[in-house]
Amino acid sequence: MHRSSLLRLGRITKVWSRSQAPRIESCRGYATESSQSHHDLYDVVCVGGGPAGLSLLAGLRASPVTSRLKVALIEGQDIQSSQAKFDISAPFSNRCSSLTPTSVSHLKEIGAWSSVEEKRVQPYQEMQVWDGVSGASINFDWASPAQGIIQPPDSTGTIAYMIENNNLTRALSQRLTSFEDITLFSPARVDSINLGEDLHDFNMQSWPIVTLNSGQKLAARLLIGADGANSPVRNFAGMVSRGWDYNRHGVVATLAMNDAGWGGEEHKIAYQRFLPTGPIALLPLPGNAASLVWSTTPERATRLKGLKAEDFVAMVNAAFRLDPVELTYLHSLEEGQVKEVNWRESQHSADEMRIPKRVTAVQPGTVANFPLKMRHADTYTGERVALIGDAAHTIHPLAGQGLNQGQGDAASLVRAIKAAVEHGADIGSQEALDAYNRDRWAANNLLLGVVDKLHKLYQFESGPIVPLRSFGLSAVNRLPALKKFLMKSATGAA
Ligand SMILES: Cc1cc2nc3c(=O)[nH]c(=O)nc-3n(C[C@H](O)[C@H](O)[C@H](O)COP(=O)(O)OP(=O)(O)OC[C@H]3O[C@@H](n4cnc5c(N)ncnc54)[C@H](O)[C@@H]3O)c2cc1C
Repeated sequence: MHRSSLLRLGRITKVWSRSQAPRIESCRGYATESSQSHHDLYDVVCVGGGPAGLSLLAGLRASPVTSRLKVALIEGQDIQSSQAKFDISAPFSNRCSSLTPTSVSHLKEIGAWSSVEEKRVQPYQEMQVWDGVSGASINFDWASPAQGIIQPPDSTGTIAYMIENNNLTRALSQRLTSFEDITLFSPARVDSINLGEDLHDFNMQSWPIVTLNSGQKLAARLLIGADGANSPVRNFAGMVSRGWDYNRHGVVATLAMNDAGWGGEEHKIAYQRFLPTGPIALLPLPGNAASLVWSTTPERATRLKGLKAEDFVAMVNAAFRLDPVELTYLHSLEEGQVKEVNWRESQHSADEMRIPKRVTAVQPGTVANFPLKMRHADTYTGERVALIGDAAHTIHPLAGQGLNQGQGDAASLVRAIKAAVEHGADIGSQEALDAYNRDRWAANNLLLGVVDKLHKLYQFESGPIVPLRSFGLSAVNRLPALKKFLMKSATGAA
Protein backbone atom coordinates (compact mmCIF):
# COMPACT_ATOMS: atom_id res chain seq x y z
CA MET A 1 0.00 0.00 0.00
CA HIS A 2 1.22 3.50 -0.80
CA ARG A 3 2.29 5.67 2.05
CA SER A 4 -0.21 8.47 1.85
CA SER A 5 0.87 11.96 2.70
CA LEU A 6 -1.26 15.03 3.13
CA LEU A 7 0.57 18.18 2.26
CA ARG A 8 -1.05 21.34 3.54
CA LEU A 9 0.21 24.53 2.09
CA GLY A 10 -0.60 27.87 3.68
CA ARG A 11 -2.76 28.78 6.60
CA ILE A 12 -6.49 29.08 6.19
CA THR A 13 -8.89 27.81 3.65
CA LYS A 14 -11.66 30.21 3.00
CA VAL A 15 -15.27 29.24 3.09
CA TRP A 16 -17.35 29.56 0.03
CA SER A 17 -20.77 29.30 1.51
CA ARG A 18 -24.39 29.74 0.59
CA SER A 19 -27.29 30.08 2.91
CA GLN A 20 -27.92 26.45 3.85
CA ALA A 21 -24.51 25.05 3.05
CA PRO A 22 -22.22 23.99 5.85
CA ARG A 23 -19.35 26.23 6.60
CA ILE A 24 -16.15 24.66 5.35
CA GLU A 25 -13.22 25.30 7.59
CA SER A 26 -9.71 24.24 6.96
CA CYS A 27 -8.44 21.46 9.15
CA ARG A 28 -5.22 22.92 10.33
CA GLY A 29 -1.87 21.22 10.47
CA TYR A 30 -0.62 18.07 8.84
CA ALA A 31 -2.57 14.88 8.86
CA THR A 32 -1.44 11.40 8.08
CA GLU A 33 -3.15 8.20 7.06
CA SER A 34 -5.17 7.47 10.14
CA SER A 35 -5.26 10.72 12.03
CA GLN A 36 -8.79 11.75 11.00
CA SER A 37 -11.90 9.73 11.31
CA HIS A 38 -14.39 12.49 10.49
CA HIS A 39 -15.22 13.82 7.04
CA ASP A 40 -13.12 16.73 5.86
CA LEU A 41 -15.34 19.11 3.91
CA TYR A 42 -14.20 20.63 0.64
CA ASP A 43 -15.76 22.85 -2.00
CA VAL A 44 -13.94 20.95 -4.74
CA VAL A 45 -12.32 17.51 -4.59
CA CYS A 46 -10.51 16.60 -7.78
CA VAL A 47 -9.53 12.97 -8.37
CA GLY A 48 -6.63 12.80 -10.84
CA GLY A 49 -3.56 14.99 -11.11
CA GLY A 50 -2.90 14.49 -14.83
CA PRO A 51 -2.83 17.46 -17.22
CA ALA A 52 -6.62 17.99 -16.97
CA GLY A 53 -6.99 17.87 -13.16
CA LEU A 54 -3.91 20.00 -12.50
CA SER A 55 -5.02 22.59 -15.04
CA LEU A 56 -8.49 22.77 -13.51
CA LEU A 57 -7.23 23.38 -9.97
CA ALA A 58 -4.53 25.85 -11.09
CA GLY A 59 -7.26 27.66 -13.07
CA LEU A 60 -9.53 27.86 -10.00
CA ARG A 61 -6.69 29.21 -7.90
CA ALA A 62 -5.58 31.71 -10.57
CA SER A 63 -8.97 33.43 -10.70
CA PRO A 64 -9.68 35.91 -7.88
CA VAL A 65 -13.35 34.82 -7.95
CA THR A 66 -12.62 31.15 -7.20
CA SER A 67 -9.23 31.39 -5.50
CA ARG A 68 -10.69 30.98 -2.03
CA LEU A 69 -12.62 27.80 -2.61
CA LYS A 70 -11.35 25.00 -0.43
CA VAL A 71 -9.91 22.43 -2.81
CA ALA A 72 -8.22 19.04 -2.56
CA LEU A 73 -6.39 16.97 -5.15
CA ILE A 74 -6.10 13.19 -4.94
CA GLU A 75 -3.45 11.65 -7.19
CA GLY A 76 -2.26 8.05 -7.30
CA GLN A 77 1.30 8.99 -8.23
CA ASP A 78 3.80 11.01 -6.23
CA ILE A 79 3.37 14.60 -7.41
CA GLN A 80 6.13 15.95 -5.19
CA SER A 81 8.80 13.68 -6.70
CA SER A 82 7.63 14.62 -10.21
CA GLN A 83 8.46 18.23 -9.33
CA ALA A 84 12.15 17.41 -9.03
CA LYS A 85 14.43 19.56 -11.14
CA PHE A 86 14.35 18.72 -14.81
CA ASP A 87 17.67 17.62 -16.28
CA ILE A 88 17.56 19.46 -19.58
CA SER A 89 20.24 17.26 -21.10
CA ALA A 90 18.37 14.04 -20.26
CA PRO A 91 17.06 11.94 -23.16
CA PHE A 92 13.53 12.79 -24.26
CA SER A 93 10.62 10.90 -22.77
CA ASN A 94 8.59 8.70 -25.13
CA ARG A 95 5.32 10.25 -23.87
CA CYS A 96 4.96 13.49 -25.77
CA SER A 97 1.95 15.49 -26.92
CA SER A 98 1.33 18.13 -29.47
CA LEU A 99 -0.19 21.15 -27.71
CA THR A 100 -2.26 23.61 -29.71
CA PRO A 101 -1.60 27.38 -29.45
CA THR A 102 -5.03 27.65 -27.80
CA SER A 103 -3.93 25.26 -25.02
CA VAL A 104 -0.66 27.17 -24.65
CA SER A 105 -2.60 30.47 -24.30
CA HIS A 106 -4.71 28.87 -21.59
CA LEU A 107 -1.59 27.62 -19.76
CA LYS A 108 -0.16 31.15 -19.95
CA GLU A 109 -3.38 32.63 -18.58
CA ILE A 110 -3.30 30.38 -15.50
CA GLY A 111 0.41 31.11 -15.00
CA ALA A 112 1.69 27.58 -15.69
CA TRP A 113 3.54 28.07 -18.98
CA SER A 114 6.38 30.05 -17.34
CA SER A 115 7.33 26.88 -15.40
CA VAL A 116 7.59 24.80 -18.58
CA GLU A 117 11.17 23.97 -19.57
CA GLU A 118 10.95 25.66 -22.98
CA LYS A 119 14.30 24.32 -24.17
CA ARG A 120 12.59 20.94 -24.38
CA VAL A 121 9.57 22.22 -26.30
CA GLN A 122 9.51 22.18 -30.09
CA PRO A 123 7.07 24.34 -32.08
CA TYR A 124 6.30 23.18 -35.62
CA GLN A 125 4.99 25.25 -38.48
CA GLU A 126 4.08 22.73 -41.15
CA MET A 127 2.29 19.39 -41.48
CA GLN A 128 2.66 16.95 -44.36
CA VAL A 129 -0.13 14.37 -44.44
CA TRP A 130 -0.57 11.75 -47.15
CA ASP A 131 -2.41 8.61 -48.13
CA GLY A 132 -0.13 5.58 -47.99
CA VAL A 133 -2.19 3.71 -50.59
CA SER A 134 -2.81 6.33 -53.29
CA GLY A 135 -0.08 8.88 -52.45
CA ALA A 136 -2.60 11.79 -52.44
CA SER A 137 -1.39 14.44 -50.03
CA ILE A 138 -2.24 17.60 -48.19
CA ASN A 139 0.14 20.12 -46.78
CA PHE A 140 -0.53 22.64 -44.01
CA ASP A 141 1.86 25.54 -43.74
CA TRP A 142 0.86 28.97 -42.45
CA ALA A 143 3.90 30.54 -44.14
CA SER A 144 3.04 29.36 -47.64
CA PRO A 145 1.42 32.09 -49.79
CA ALA A 146 -0.41 29.30 -51.67
CA GLN A 147 -2.50 28.64 -48.56
CA GLY A 148 -4.28 31.96 -49.08
CA ILE A 149 -4.26 32.37 -45.32
CA ILE A 150 -3.87 35.84 -44.03
CA GLN A 151 -3.28 35.43 -40.33
CA PRO A 152 -2.25 32.37 -38.36
CA PRO A 153 -3.71 32.26 -34.83
CA ASP A 154 -0.20 32.66 -33.47
CA SER A 155 2.21 35.35 -34.73
CA THR A 156 5.02 32.78 -35.04
CA GLY A 157 3.01 30.70 -37.53
CA THR A 158 3.09 27.77 -35.14
CA ILE A 159 0.62 24.97 -35.76
CA ALA A 160 1.41 23.21 -32.46
CA TYR A 161 4.08 22.66 -29.82
CA MET A 162 5.62 19.25 -29.10
CA ILE A 163 6.11 18.82 -25.36
CA GLU A 164 6.93 15.88 -23.09
CA ASN A 165 3.92 15.08 -20.91
CA ASN A 166 6.11 15.16 -17.77
CA ASN A 167 7.40 18.66 -18.65
CA LEU A 168 3.78 19.85 -18.78
CA THR A 169 2.53 18.11 -15.61
CA ARG A 170 5.61 19.25 -13.71
CA ALA A 171 4.93 22.89 -14.71
CA LEU A 172 1.25 22.58 -13.79
CA SER A 173 1.92 21.00 -10.41
CA GLN A 174 4.57 23.64 -9.65
CA ARG A 175 2.05 26.34 -10.47
CA LEU A 176 -0.62 24.66 -8.36
CA THR A 177 1.58 24.27 -5.29
CA SER A 178 2.74 27.89 -5.62
CA PHE A 179 -0.71 28.86 -4.29
CA GLU A 180 -1.59 28.73 -0.63
CA ASP A 181 -4.06 26.28 0.83
CA ILE A 182 -3.88 23.46 -1.64
CA THR A 183 -4.58 20.13 0.01
CA LEU A 184 -2.71 17.46 -1.85
CA PHE A 185 -3.12 13.73 -1.25
CA SER A 186 -0.29 12.17 -3.21
CA PRO A 187 0.46 9.36 -3.59
CA ALA A 188 -3.02 8.32 -2.51
CA ARG A 189 -5.71 6.28 -4.18
CA VAL A 190 -9.45 6.46 -4.08
CA ASP A 191 -10.74 3.38 -2.35
CA SER A 192 -14.46 4.05 -2.67
CA ILE A 193 -16.96 6.84 -3.23
CA ASN A 194 -20.37 6.91 -1.57
CA LEU A 195 -23.12 9.39 -0.97
CA GLY A 196 -23.03 11.28 2.31
CA GLU A 197 -25.23 11.10 5.34
CA ASP A 198 -26.57 13.89 7.43
CA LEU A 199 -23.81 15.61 9.32
CA HIS A 200 -24.83 17.45 12.47
CA ASP A 201 -27.99 19.26 11.38
CA PHE A 202 -26.98 19.55 7.74
CA ASN A 203 -28.33 17.37 4.97
CA MET A 204 -25.35 15.94 3.12
CA GLN A 205 -27.13 13.14 1.35
CA SER A 206 -26.22 14.47 -2.09
CA TRP A 207 -22.55 15.02 -1.21
CA PRO A 208 -20.06 12.49 -2.55
CA ILE A 209 -17.81 11.13 0.21
CA VAL A 210 -14.45 9.95 -1.10
CA THR A 211 -12.62 7.35 1.00
CA LEU A 212 -8.89 7.15 0.40
CA ASN A 213 -6.77 4.03 0.75
CA SER A 214 -5.60 5.53 4.05
CA GLY A 215 -9.18 5.40 5.35
CA GLN A 216 -9.50 9.19 5.35
CA LYS A 217 -12.84 10.55 4.13
CA LEU A 218 -13.38 13.74 2.14
CA ALA A 219 -16.82 15.23 1.55
CA ALA A 220 -17.11 17.19 -1.70
CA ARG A 221 -19.54 19.94 -2.57
CA LEU A 222 -18.32 19.28 -6.13
CA LEU A 223 -16.42 16.12 -7.04
CA ILE A 224 -14.38 16.29 -10.23
CA GLY A 225 -13.34 13.18 -12.14
CA ALA A 226 -10.06 13.98 -13.91
CA ASP A 227 -9.05 10.40 -13.29
CA GLY A 228 -8.43 9.18 -16.82
CA ALA A 229 -10.10 6.67 -19.11
CA ASN A 230 -11.10 4.18 -16.35
CA SER A 231 -12.47 6.95 -14.14
CA PRO A 232 -13.61 5.74 -10.69
CA VAL A 233 -15.58 9.00 -10.35
CA ARG A 234 -17.50 8.29 -13.56
CA ASN A 235 -18.31 4.80 -12.29
CA PHE A 236 -19.48 6.14 -8.93
CA ALA A 237 -21.76 8.64 -10.66
CA GLY A 238 -23.20 5.91 -12.92
CA MET A 239 -22.37 7.99 -15.99
CA VAL A 240 -22.41 5.76 -19.05
CA SER A 241 -19.42 5.99 -21.38
CA ARG A 242 -19.90 4.55 -24.88
CA GLY A 243 -17.52 3.67 -27.66
CA TRP A 244 -15.32 0.91 -28.98
CA ASP A 245 -11.79 -0.44 -28.96
CA TYR A 246 -9.97 0.07 -32.25
CA ASN A 247 -8.06 -3.20 -32.07
CA ARG A 248 -5.05 -0.99 -32.69
CA HIS A 249 -2.08 -0.06 -30.53
CA GLY A 250 -0.18 3.21 -30.58
CA VAL A 251 3.55 2.39 -30.73
CA VAL A 252 5.61 5.28 -29.36
CA ALA A 253 9.38 5.82 -29.37
CA THR A 254 11.97 8.58 -29.24
CA LEU A 255 14.06 8.70 -32.38
CA ALA A 256 17.18 10.44 -33.69
CA MET A 257 17.12 11.88 -37.22
CA ASN A 258 20.04 12.28 -39.58
CA ASP A 259 19.58 16.01 -40.00
CA ALA A 260 19.66 18.32 -37.00
CA GLY A 261 17.51 20.88 -38.79
CA TRP A 262 15.06 18.53 -40.47
CA GLY A 263 12.78 21.12 -42.01
CA GLY A 264 15.16 23.83 -40.69
CA GLU A 265 15.50 24.90 -37.03
CA GLU A 266 13.09 27.78 -37.58
CA HIS A 267 10.63 25.79 -39.64
CA LYS A 268 9.90 22.32 -38.33
CA ILE A 269 7.58 19.86 -40.02
CA ALA A 270 5.32 17.11 -38.64
CA TYR A 271 4.73 14.13 -40.95
CA GLN A 272 1.85 11.69 -41.00
CA ARG A 273 1.25 8.86 -43.45
CA PHE A 274 -2.05 6.99 -43.40
CA LEU A 275 -1.48 3.26 -43.81
CA PRO A 276 -4.35 0.72 -43.96
CA THR A 277 -3.47 -0.48 -40.45
CA GLY A 278 -3.41 3.10 -39.09
CA PRO A 279 -1.42 6.30 -39.39
CA ILE A 280 2.28 6.67 -38.60
CA ALA A 281 3.39 10.11 -37.39
CA LEU A 282 6.83 11.61 -36.83
CA LEU A 283 6.75 14.76 -34.75
CA PRO A 284 9.72 17.05 -34.23
CA LEU A 285 11.43 17.47 -30.87
CA PRO A 286 14.32 19.91 -30.26
CA GLY A 287 17.58 19.29 -32.11
CA ASN A 288 17.64 16.11 -34.15
CA ALA A 289 15.14 14.22 -31.98
CA ALA A 290 11.66 13.12 -33.01
CA SER A 291 8.66 11.48 -31.38
CA LEU A 292 6.99 8.52 -33.08
CA VAL A 293 3.32 7.58 -32.81
CA TRP A 294 2.55 4.56 -35.00
CA SER A 295 -0.96 3.18 -34.85
CA THR A 296 -1.01 -0.45 -35.93
CA THR A 297 -2.48 -3.87 -35.12
CA PRO A 298 -1.68 -5.38 -31.68
CA GLU A 299 0.27 -8.21 -33.38
CA ARG A 300 2.44 -5.80 -35.37
CA ALA A 301 2.94 -3.62 -32.30
CA THR A 302 4.22 -6.61 -30.34
CA ARG A 303 6.53 -7.59 -33.19
CA LEU A 304 7.86 -4.01 -33.54
CA LYS A 305 8.54 -3.82 -29.81
CA GLY A 306 10.56 -7.03 -29.93
CA LEU A 307 12.79 -6.00 -32.88
CA LYS A 308 16.47 -5.19 -32.57
CA ALA A 309 17.09 -1.42 -32.66
CA GLU A 310 18.49 -1.46 -36.22
CA ASP A 311 15.53 -3.44 -37.53
CA PHE A 312 13.07 -1.14 -35.72
CA VAL A 313 14.73 1.91 -37.30
CA ALA A 314 14.57 0.25 -40.73
CA MET A 315 10.84 -0.42 -40.24
CA VAL A 316 10.11 3.22 -39.36
CA ASN A 317 12.00 4.45 -42.44
CA ALA A 318 10.21 1.86 -44.58
CA ALA A 319 6.79 2.86 -43.21
CA PHE A 320 7.25 6.34 -44.71
CA ARG A 321 8.61 5.05 -48.03
CA LEU A 322 7.43 1.57 -49.06
CA ASP A 323 4.06 0.24 -50.25
CA PRO A 324 1.64 -1.24 -47.68
CA VAL A 325 2.00 -4.67 -49.34
CA GLU A 326 5.77 -4.60 -48.81
CA LEU A 327 5.25 -3.45 -45.23
CA THR A 328 2.98 -6.43 -44.61
CA TYR A 329 5.79 -8.74 -45.69
CA LEU A 330 8.35 -6.90 -43.55
CA HIS A 331 6.08 -7.16 -40.51
CA SER A 332 5.99 -10.94 -40.97
CA LEU A 333 9.77 -11.25 -40.49
CA GLU A 334 11.09 -11.97 -37.04
CA GLU A 335 14.37 -10.21 -37.82
CA GLY A 336 16.58 -8.99 -40.66
CA GLN A 337 14.37 -6.04 -41.66
CA VAL A 338 17.35 -3.74 -42.16
CA LYS A 339 18.76 -5.76 -45.05
CA GLU A 340 15.38 -6.35 -46.62
CA VAL A 341 14.40 -2.66 -46.39
CA ASN A 342 17.71 -1.51 -47.92
CA TRP A 343 17.16 -3.75 -50.92
CA ARG A 344 13.50 -2.74 -51.33
CA GLU A 345 14.22 0.96 -50.99
CA SER A 346 16.87 0.72 -53.72
CA GLN A 347 14.07 -0.37 -56.09
CA HIS A 348 11.93 2.70 -55.24
CA SER A 349 12.27 6.40 -55.80
CA ALA A 350 10.60 8.30 -52.96
CA ASP A 351 9.95 12.04 -53.06
CA GLU A 352 12.47 12.84 -50.32
CA MET A 353 11.28 16.48 -50.19
CA ARG A 354 7.85 15.40 -49.00
CA ILE A 355 8.77 12.72 -46.49
CA PRO A 356 10.78 12.97 -43.26
CA LYS A 357 14.56 12.70 -43.21
CA ARG A 358 15.88 9.31 -42.28
CA VAL A 359 15.69 7.98 -38.77
CA THR A 360 19.16 6.95 -37.62
CA ALA A 361 18.58 5.56 -34.13
CA VAL A 362 15.96 4.72 -31.53
CA GLN A 363 16.58 5.76 -27.95
CA PRO A 364 16.96 2.56 -25.88
CA GLY A 365 13.98 1.66 -23.71
CA THR A 366 11.56 4.09 -25.38
CA VAL A 367 9.57 1.72 -27.60
CA ALA A 368 6.21 1.18 -25.90
CA ASN A 369 2.63 0.53 -26.99
CA PHE A 370 -0.83 1.60 -25.80
CA PRO A 371 -4.20 0.13 -26.78
CA LEU A 372 -6.32 2.71 -28.61
CA LYS A 373 -10.02 3.25 -28.03
CA MET A 374 -12.83 5.70 -28.50
CA ARG A 375 -15.11 6.51 -25.57
CA HIS A 376 -17.52 9.30 -24.81
CA ALA A 377 -19.56 9.75 -21.65
CA ASP A 378 -23.26 10.45 -22.27
CA THR A 379 -22.96 13.51 -20.05
CA TYR A 380 -20.12 15.27 -18.25
CA THR A 381 -22.15 16.42 -15.28
CA GLY A 382 -24.48 15.13 -12.58
CA GLU A 383 -25.54 16.40 -9.19
CA ARG A 384 -22.23 17.39 -7.48
CA VAL A 385 -20.10 15.61 -10.10
CA ALA A 386 -18.28 16.75 -13.24
CA LEU A 387 -15.93 14.86 -15.55
CA ILE A 388 -13.04 16.37 -17.50
CA GLY A 389 -10.29 15.09 -19.81
CA ASP A 390 -9.97 11.39 -20.60
CA ALA A 391 -12.51 10.57 -17.89
CA ALA A 392 -15.08 12.25 -20.14
CA HIS A 393 -13.71 11.23 -23.57
CA THR A 394 -10.93 9.15 -25.07
CA ILE A 395 -9.94 9.85 -28.65
CA HIS A 396 -7.68 8.16 -31.22
CA PRO A 397 -4.33 10.01 -31.13
CA LEU A 398 -4.15 10.55 -34.91
CA ALA A 399 -5.10 14.22 -34.60
CA GLY A 400 -3.18 14.82 -31.34
CA GLN A 401 -6.23 16.26 -29.59
CA GLY A 402 -6.90 14.29 -26.36
CA LEU A 403 -4.82 16.34 -24.00
CA ASN A 404 -5.91 19.56 -25.72
CA GLN A 405 -9.56 18.64 -25.26
CA GLY A 406 -8.85 18.18 -21.54
CA GLN A 407 -7.35 21.67 -21.34
CA GLY A 408 -10.47 23.05 -23.03
CA ASP A 409 -12.67 21.18 -20.53
CA ALA A 410 -10.69 22.52 -17.56
CA ALA A 411 -10.94 26.13 -18.82
CA SER A 412 -14.67 25.75 -19.45
CA LEU A 413 -15.43 24.17 -16.06
CA VAL A 414 -13.51 26.95 -14.30
CA ARG A 415 -15.73 29.47 -16.15
CA ALA A 416 -18.89 27.63 -15.02
CA ILE A 417 -17.73 27.46 -11.38
CA LYS A 418 -16.75 31.13 -11.52
CA ALA A 419 -20.19 32.10 -12.83
CA ALA A 420 -21.84 30.11 -10.03
CA VAL A 421 -19.71 31.81 -7.36
CA GLU A 422 -20.43 35.24 -8.87
CA HIS A 423 -24.16 34.56 -8.82
CA GLY A 424 -24.12 33.06 -5.35
CA ALA A 425 -25.23 29.65 -6.64
CA ASP A 426 -24.23 26.24 -5.33
CA ILE A 427 -21.18 25.19 -7.41
CA GLY A 428 -22.20 21.54 -7.16
CA SER A 429 -25.73 22.00 -8.45
CA GLN A 430 -26.76 20.60 -11.81
CA GLU A 431 -27.85 24.12 -12.91
CA ALA A 432 -24.41 25.55 -12.19
CA LEU A 433 -22.69 22.73 -14.09
CA ASP A 434 -25.02 22.76 -17.09
CA ALA A 435 -23.11 25.57 -18.78
CA TYR A 436 -19.97 23.41 -18.79
CA ASN A 437 -21.77 20.40 -20.26
CA ARG A 438 -23.39 22.56 -22.96
CA ASP A 439 -20.11 24.23 -23.83
CA ARG A 440 -17.97 21.10 -24.15
CA TRP A 441 -20.03 17.98 -24.90
CA ALA A 442 -21.14 18.82 -28.45
CA ALA A 443 -17.74 20.28 -29.43
CA ASN A 444 -15.89 17.21 -28.17
CA ASN A 445 -18.44 14.90 -29.76
CA LEU A 446 -17.88 16.52 -33.16
CA LEU A 447 -14.11 16.08 -32.91
CA LEU A 448 -14.42 12.48 -31.67
CA GLY A 449 -16.69 11.72 -34.64
CA VAL A 450 -14.39 13.31 -37.24
CA VAL A 451 -11.29 11.54 -35.91
CA ASP A 452 -13.13 8.21 -35.72
CA LYS A 453 -14.33 8.55 -39.35
CA LEU A 454 -10.82 9.48 -40.51
CA HIS A 455 -9.43 6.37 -38.85
CA LYS A 456 -12.07 4.23 -40.55
CA LEU A 457 -11.78 5.94 -43.96
CA TYR A 458 -8.08 5.14 -44.24
CA GLN A 459 -8.44 1.47 -43.40
CA PHE A 460 -9.54 0.64 -46.96
CA GLU A 461 -6.76 -0.67 -49.19
CA SER A 462 -8.86 -0.96 -52.32
CA GLY A 463 -12.34 -0.33 -53.71
CA PRO A 464 -14.14 2.91 -54.57
CA ILE A 465 -13.28 4.57 -51.24
CA VAL A 466 -9.59 4.87 -52.16
CA PRO A 467 -9.95 7.15 -55.22
CA LEU A 468 -12.75 9.07 -53.47
CA ARG A 469 -10.72 9.84 -50.36
CA SER A 470 -7.69 10.71 -52.54
CA PHE A 471 -9.84 13.05 -54.59
CA GLY A 472 -11.11 14.58 -51.33
CA LEU A 473 -7.59 15.10 -49.96
CA SER A 474 -6.33 16.65 -53.22
CA ALA A 475 -9.44 18.83 -53.49
CA VAL A 476 -9.05 20.12 -49.93
CA ASN A 477 -5.40 20.83 -50.69
CA ARG A 478 -6.55 23.13 -53.49
CA LEU A 479 -9.24 24.93 -51.45
CA PRO A 480 -7.59 27.60 -49.29
CA ALA A 481 -10.73 28.48 -47.34
CA LEU A 482 -11.39 24.87 -46.30
CA LYS A 483 -7.72 24.35 -45.49
CA LYS A 484 -7.77 27.47 -43.38
CA PHE A 485 -10.72 26.08 -41.45
CA LEU A 486 -8.98 22.71 -40.95
CA MET A 487 -5.77 24.38 -39.83
CA LYS A 488 -7.64 26.57 -37.39
CA SER A 489 -9.34 23.44 -36.02
CA ALA A 490 -5.95 21.74 -35.65
CA THR A 491 -4.61 24.68 -33.66
CA GLY A 492 -7.71 24.78 -31.47
CA ALA A 493 -8.73 28.21 -32.79
CA ALA A 494 -11.87 27.24 -34.76
C1 LIG B 1 0.05 7.20 -28.05
C2 LIG B 1 -0.69 8.44 -27.60
C3 LIG B 1 -0.33 9.67 -28.11
C4 LIG B 1 -1.01 10.83 -27.73
N1 LIG B 1 -0.66 12.04 -28.27
C5 LIG B 1 -1.37 13.14 -27.96
C6 LIG B 1 -1.07 14.41 -28.55
O1 LIG B 1 -0.16 14.55 -29.36
N2 LIG B 1 -1.82 15.49 -28.19
C7 LIG B 1 -2.86 15.39 -27.31
O2 LIG B 1 -3.53 16.40 -27.07
N3 LIG B 1 -3.16 14.21 -26.72
C8 LIG B 1 -2.45 13.10 -27.02
N4 LIG B 1 -2.76 11.90 -26.44
C9 LIG B 1 -3.83 11.85 -25.42
C10 LIG B 1 -3.34 12.33 -24.06
O3 LIG B 1 -2.20 11.60 -23.66
C11 LIG B 1 -4.46 12.16 -23.03
O4 LIG B 1 -5.66 12.68 -23.57
C12 LIG B 1 -4.14 12.92 -21.74
O5 LIG B 1 -2.97 12.45 -21.15
C13 LIG B 1 -5.29 12.75 -20.74
O6 LIG B 1 -5.05 13.56 -19.62
P1 LIG B 1 -6.00 13.47 -18.34
O7 LIG B 1 -5.43 14.41 -17.33
O8 LIG B 1 -7.41 13.60 -18.73
O9 LIG B 1 -5.86 11.96 -17.85
P2 LIG B 1 -4.56 11.14 -17.37
O10 LIG B 1 -3.33 11.70 -17.97
O11 LIG B 1 -4.89 9.71 -17.64
O12 LIG B 1 -4.50 11.42 -15.82
C14 LIG B 1 -5.38 10.76 -14.91
C15 LIG B 1 -4.73 10.78 -13.54
O13 LIG B 1 -5.65 10.23 -12.60
C16 LIG B 1 -4.93 9.43 -11.67
N5 LIG B 1 -5.87 8.43 -11.13
C17 LIG B 1 -6.61 7.53 -11.82
N6 LIG B 1 -7.34 6.77 -10.96
C18 LIG B 1 -7.05 7.21 -9.71
C19 LIG B 1 -7.48 6.82 -8.40
N7 LIG B 1 -8.36 5.82 -8.21
N8 LIG B 1 -6.97 7.48 -7.34
C20 LIG B 1 -6.06 8.49 -7.51
N9 LIG B 1 -5.63 8.90 -8.73
C21 LIG B 1 -6.12 8.27 -9.81
C22 LIG B 1 -3.80 8.80 -12.50
O14 LIG B 1 -2.70 8.46 -11.68
C23 LIG B 1 -3.45 9.92 -13.47
O15 LIG B 1 -2.39 10.73 -13.03
C24 LIG B 1 -2.07 10.73 -26.80
C25 LIG B 1 -2.43 9.49 -26.25
C26 LIG B 1 -1.74 8.35 -26.66
C27 LIG B 1 -2.15 7.01 -26.08
